[in-house]
Amino acid sequence: MDYKKIDRMAELFRNSHNTVVVTGAGISTEAGIPDFRGENGVYTIVGENRAMKIINIDAFRRDPEGFYTFYRQYLMFPPVEPSKAHYMLAQLENKGFIRAIVTQNIDNLHQKAGSKRVIPIHGTADRFICTKCRSVYNSEYVEKSKNVPVCEKCGGILKPDVVLFGEQIYNYADAHEAIVHAKLLVVIGSSLTVYPLAGFVKEFSTFYQDLIILNKSRTQLDHAAIVKVDSGNTGDVLEEIYKRIG
Ligand SMILES: [Zn+2]
Repeated sequence: MDYKKIDRMAELFRNSHNTVVVTGAGISTEAGIPDFRGENGVYTIVGENRAMKIINIDAFRRDPEGFYTFYRQYLMFPPVEPSKAHYMLAQLENKGFIRAIVTQNIDNLHQKAGSKRVIPIHGTADRFICTKCRSVYNSEYVEKSKNVPVCEKCGGILKPDVVLFGEQIYNYADAHEAIVHAKLLVVIGSSLTVYPLAGFVKEFSTFYQDLIILNKSRTQLDHAAIVKVDSGNTGDVLEEIYKRIG
């Protein structure tokens, strides 16, 4: 581990009164969830184009049967525990070092680890909402029901509470506001290719504010970062930072 970088990052955390964290798939692979684009990810198995055509709001409306066959096979995961990185972020927030987490992940692991101010922009995979009466169901209910789950109150089809292709992201304004007004922005496990989130980070970085990127591979904004750490184990990196400031 590069301790010079750790010290520098600890200093940035200490000096910032408004630190916002942006997380992507990378932090959840540390908890054992396959990255869509990774080796066992759905895009790799079936191809990104095909996946995008099925995990799509029009496909859901036109053919819920086909949608759910696919969704059940590739997008419903057994429950996993948060990774060390999730817990470290919750502790940093608890000590007042993080103001908010904007996440692209739909696995609810930040909340599970104890983070309070989480802004999920792609929804939550284990929540399902009735398309008619808006009643909310959990994944246990859906697992027990037949292929296309329906509302027990009104018979409406349930939709996963996640943003499908062709839909607007959730919490657009909150996510934008948190990111562009941050003093220190920390990107974890995202290659910053998915818009509009990548655009928000770009917008932040044009004001020459402090940007840290922890990601296993290159990102679109490495050149703008004060510190970039290439690591697939962000839990250890965050722990070292925490030791210095917590
Ligand atoms: Zn209903």
